[in-house]
Amino acid sequence: MAQLIDGKAVSAAVKAEVAEETAKLKDEKGLKVGLAVVIVGNDPASRVYVNNKKKACEAVGFQSYEYALDESTTQEQLLDLVNVLNRDDRVNGILVQLPLPKHIDEKAVINAISPDKDVDAFHPINVGKIMIGEYSFLPCTPAGVMRLIESTGTDITGKQCVVIGRSNIVGKPQAMLLLQKNGTVTICHSKTKNLKEICLGADILVVAIGRANFVTGDMIKEGAVVIDVGMNRLDNGKLCGDVEFESAEKKASFITPVPGGVGPMTIAMLMKNTLTAAKQQAGIE
Ligand code: NAP
Repeated sequence: MAQLIDGKAVSAAVKAEVAEETAKLKDEKGLKVGLAVVIVGNDPASRVYVNNKKKACEAVGFQSYEYALDESTTQEQLLDLVNVLNRDDRVNGILVQLPLPKHIDEKAVINAISPDKDVDAFHPINVGKIMIGEYSFLPCTPAGVMRLIESTGTDITGKQCVVIGRSNIVGKPQAMLLLQKNGTVTICHSKTKNLKEICLGADILVVAIGRANFVTGDMIKEGAVVIDVGMNRLDNGKLCGDVEFESAEKKASFITPVPGGVGPMTIAMLMKNTLTAAKQQAGIE
């Protein structure tokens, strides 16, 4: 039976590290850390995420600046705000909550954020830096996954790592981070043939596809580390992952639950990125 990887505990440890360093920077260097969170429209899920980010900022001692814009905000108005925030010294990190309303081009907005303040690490410059291993920030969810794998004591070097999903925000950067830790990485997607066989070869399996209970125990190698990034809302309102937990936990050595696995890590890593941004902007790191 697998051991549970406790995302809440690991994320609390990350936030405690950030809070300690933030307090020290304030005491010793008078440095304050600020995160601007921009939300456009009234999407309820986005509202919950933004509130959670604000709460996390308070918990670690950051200033948070919320900009809640009307659904009818034009792309030009949003770009103007991003430009103002790029120049605002109180703001070390800028997060524009996605998805944006359909009339706004997300790419144009992401590209307008100064790469130094791009704490989501979505800007093409930061994406490129991850490719060459010279990054300042890592995208929050894949970075959180790396921290969870690390918490199991697993050495990634030489391990067969399989990532299911190739999105720009999870699958692709995840594969790159595992490669940088010397894993032998296979990326799977909706056109992959023999998915089950490939999964059965995985010592480390990261699943990020957005399909409830898609990966079942018979697809998992005995003793594998299984990380479930998926967050799917069932008809009964319950949250569930991309991995069928009951059958998978019988095969895995370590497994993340949903909720309480990868989810809490994403915000913790956002706090870490914002602290890194503040230090870099102050010339400390
Ligand atoms: P996405 O952009 O929709 O990408 C899904 C990926 O899964 C695609 O690459 C797709 O392949 C692949 N896929 C879909 N069906 C498949 C199948 N039957 N077999 C193999 N691959 C398949 O999703 P995402 O943004 O990466 O998110 C993935 C999941 O993670 C979602 O449930 C999301 O809610 C969750 N998530 C959680 C967090 C967190 O903080 N916990 C953060 C981000 C995302 P193609 O490229 O071929 O279409």
